[in-house]
Amino acid sequence: MNQPKLQISFSGGRTSAYMTKLILDNWKDKYDFIVTFANTGKEHPKTLEFIHNCDTIFGFNTVWLEANVFMDERKGTGFKIVSYETASRNGEPFEQVIQKYGISNPSYLHCTRELKLAPMRSYLASLGINHKEIPTAIGIRADEKRRISKTAGVDNIIYPLITEWPSDKQDVLDFWEDQLFDLGLDEWDGNCVGCFKKSFKKIFKQLDTNSSSLEWHKNMEQKYGSVKCPIENTKRVFFRGNTSAEGVIEMWKQDRQNNPTQLNLDLYENGGCSESCEVYEST
Ligand code: SF4
Repeated sequence: MNQPKLQISFSGGRTSAYMTKLILDNWKDKYDFIVTFANTGKEHPKTLEFIHNCDTIFGFNTVWLEANVFMDERKGTGFKIVSYETASRNGEPFEQVIQKYGISNPSYLHCTRELKLAPMRSYLASLGINHKEIPTAIGIRADEKRRISKTAGVDNIIYPLITEWPSDKQDVLDFWEDQLFDLGLDEWDGNCVGCFKKSFKKIFKQLDTNSSSLEWHKNMEQKYGSVKCPIENTKRVFFRGNTSAEGVIEMWKQDRQNNPTQLNLDLYENGGCSESCEVYEST
């Protein structure tokens, strides 16, 4: 017998995976599940490996989605189904979104909307489901209530880690300590590599590990900086304080030459979007 459907939005973070496991283990007599993950093409390779492990070891049966952008049409972003093997790893879906909508940054927050939300909604629509008609579970914990969406009621969003199994960060870490595999990333290192929501200090740490980690961003700014740029003869850039990728790399070099005080990095320390980039998140 068909049961009501529940979408589980799996972001690829530890908390989101923990929530997915709890739901699959406890609600199988209540719902038929649709587990979705939307790949931006800039996810850390370990995130993709983690999702693959969740599929093969825990049986998540995740539908791997990517944005399908209709370039010269007034048509909203659709979806493509990919897999662990075929998922983009060089920022391809992200580049398409930038080509149409411009560089995303703290003033233009369209990347989550176009790369995650739109493909998920479009995928549900292809199944004949309006996203508001079925609940969508999001992995936000009881200690993160500030991240709850203002439109949760209208969009039929549920937060099982707040309402059903109230959990905090330690609960999640304790769970993963007992498993055969883990994400293998520090909290600051999750999501898209070089995500503009991260603090500069976190981006510097990524540059320490891989000094080319912002080359893609530099390239995007050069190619598409003028797309949807409201001020003539200027370019849109990714990072806070209107800082270009090249500017961040310069700051990183200066910082690593033991001159950190001039940069006043503490101003930027409260970067969001740490372990997971969730759809329907309050910003
Ligand atoms: S992780 Fe950052 S860059 Fe990637 S989609 Fe989310 S907000 Fe955008």
